[in-house]
Amino acid sequence: MKNRIILFISLVFLIGIFYFSLPNKTGKMVVCDVGQGDAILATYKNIQMLIDTGPDNKKVLECLNRHLPFWDKTIEVMILTHGDSDHVGGLNDVLESYKVENIFSNEQKISSKKISQNDVISTNMFDFEVVNPPEIVDFDEENKNSVAGYLIYKGSVKWRAFLSADIDKETEQRLVWQGILRQGYGILDNGIDVLKVAHHGSENGTSEEILDLLKPKIAVISVGKNNRFDHPRKEVLERSKVRNIEIKRTDEVGDVVFEMN
Ligand SMILES: [Zn+2]
Repeated sequence: MKNRIILFISLVFLIGIFYFSLPNKTGKMVVCDVGQGDAILATYKNIQMLIDTGPDNKKVLECLNRHLPFWDKTIEVMILTHGDSDHVGGLNDVLESYKVENIFSNEQKISSKKISQNDVISTNMFDFEVVNPPEIVDFDEENKNSVAGYLIYKGSVKWRAFLSADIDKETEQRLVWQGILRQGYGILDNGIDVLKVAHHGSENGTSEEILDLLKPKIAVISVGKNNRFDHPRKEVLERSKVRNIEIKRTDEVGDVVFEMN
C-alpha cells in the first residue's frame, strides 16, 4: 500500500513537471527583467533567439529558466547589440549554462559573426532583419553602432517587433529619413506590434519620427528600478502617451511577455 502511494505521488509529480514545462503553441517574445539592461528572448518550442544578456547579475539565467523548457539547453542564435556591460555582462553566465550555436554582434569579436544593415539572421521560426549599424561604421559613439532591427515570427504573417537596442535620436532619424525602416515592410501602414524602446527610455531616443513611422501598439521599456540614470524619462513616456501607445516596463511588472500572434 505504502509503495503504491509513493508511486502515485511520484507519478502526479512527474506529470506536473511535464505539464508545466510544455512549450507554448505560439511563439513568445520575452523582455526579461534583468534590472538596468537588455535581454530579449524569442522562443518557440525548442528554437530560441536571445538578443543581449543583461548585466552581470545572473538575472538573464533566471529569465531563461522561467521561459525555456527545462530540457532545452541550446540557444540557436544570440545577438549582442553592442559591448556595453548592461547588454553583454551576462554573456559568460549564458555560455556556461547553455550551448549557444551562433553568436552575432556589431563587431568581429572572438567567435561572433559581424552583422550590419540588410543582414537577415534566420532560424526555423524567427528572423531578425538588421537595419543598424550600416555596413561601414565609423561612429565614435558605441550606442549609434548598436544592432537594431525587426524581430519577425514566421508563425504569423503580421506579428513584428522593432528592437532598438541603445540607438539614439539621430540614428532613428537617419533610419526614417533614409527610408531604411520602410524597405520591404508593406504592412507598416498598420503599425507594428511592439517597439522595444531605445536605451532604456533615455530622452535622447524614441523620437517622434520613429514613433510616427512604426506606430507601435505597445512600447516596452527594459529598465532597472530606481536606476541612477533616471530612466525612463518623462519625455519618452509623454511622446508615447499622446500617441495612445501602451507602455509596459520591466521595473514595474518584471518579465514582459508577448504572444506572437
Ligand atoms: Zn543599455
